[in-house]
Amino acid sequence: MKRTFNLSAGPAMLPTSVLERAQKELLDYNGTGMSVMEMSHRSSYYDEIINDAEKNLRKLVNIPDNYRILFLQGGASQAFFTLVMNLKQSGKVAYVDSGNFAHKAIQAAEELEKDLNLDVDVVASSRNNGYKNIPEFPETLKNYDYLHICSNNTIEGTQFKEFPKYDDIPLVCDMSSDILSRPINIEDFGMIYAGAQKNLGIAGLTLVIIREDLLGLNEVPTMFNYKVFSDKNSMYNTPSTYSIYIHKLVTDWLLEIGGLETIETRNKEKAAILYDYLDQSKLFVPTADKDSRSLMNVTFSTNDDDLNKKFVEYAQENGFENIKGHRSVGGMRASIYNAFPKDGVEALVELMKKFEEEN
Ligand SMILES: *Cc1c(COP(=O)(O)O)cnc(C)c1O
Repeated sequence: MKRTFNLSAGPAMLPTSVLERAQKELLDYNGTGMSVMEMSHRSSYYDEIINDAEKNLRKLVNIPDNYRILFLQGGASQAFFTLVMNLKQSGKVAYVDSGNFAHKAIQAAEELEKDLNLDVDVVASSRNNGYKNIPEFPETLKNYDYLHICSNNTIEGTQFKEFPKYDDIPLVCDMSSDILSRPINIEDFGMIYAGAQKNLGIAGLTLVIIREDLLGLNEVPTMFNYKVFSDKNSMYNTPSTYSIYIHKLVTDWLLEIGGLETIETRNKEKAAILYDYLDQSKLFVPTADKDSRSLMNVTFSTNDDDLNKKFVEYAQENGFENIKGHRSVGGMRASIYNAFPKDGVEALVELMKKFEEEN
């Protein structure tokens, strides 16, 4: 069977063992004679799946009881809006503009500015530098309902190495493209959210982890109200049952291999193979500033559009899919999330060397 090295930014590769287990259980989940896809979300069988998914996540990330875990839908893009609706108090909200998605989150808040009587401040930005780096945070910040950041800028290939900390301002983080890639201290955050299709599983599931005291601050329409979903264990309506099941399998896999310390070590090794090569290459240049580089999305270019195009085609001919960079940045992007294998990274560097020799 052929398994391509898929460098897609998302939906992205899943661990082979997860797919094999899903295949094995596809028609008959655990002796029930049903596929998880066919199962009532109110059944005891499904209860076990969603409860195990939550348990696994609490164990992996070390999440204490005063944080709630919500399995929602709508993607990170919907959360750009719902987080504002749920967390707003005085209306003064702060954002770091570190990339395309961080910017979209700002635009979402601006769309709601009038209706919710908001005052949206961008307190740090690398937009004028083409988002090549993570901007410096201000020394002090006061009187904001929250500070929003995006921990990993998927399109530009930059990543926060440490997180800003301000007394009394909850940190809200879009972690869509690096969640579960390294250990974090959950207590640094008021809320974390992520679409599942990069490191958590498959599309259709949006994870929210939120501190209890941030629930119920506002009147929010029921379907967008985090407190409603928290009170109903993510089952106010039908959740994305199969996506949650795949997420449960992914977290099983992470626990089996040794948790977030292990995966972080692997991720550092994989990224180093690529960056070490890029740093000495005479053809390819890395796009992001060195101290802001992402371990998940490695962006680079030949600085020649024709040559970039030629390399994307060359990579595809040799079994590497989706290495083309985002249209807003150009060049190439290798997304090497948790499930992307190390031998795939090694093979990619061999291919790049060969291309460099020939061009
Ligand atoms: C992919 C991505 C998004 C968009 O996620 P959707 O689930 O498609 O809405 C938002 N933020 C970041 C950082 C992403 O990587």
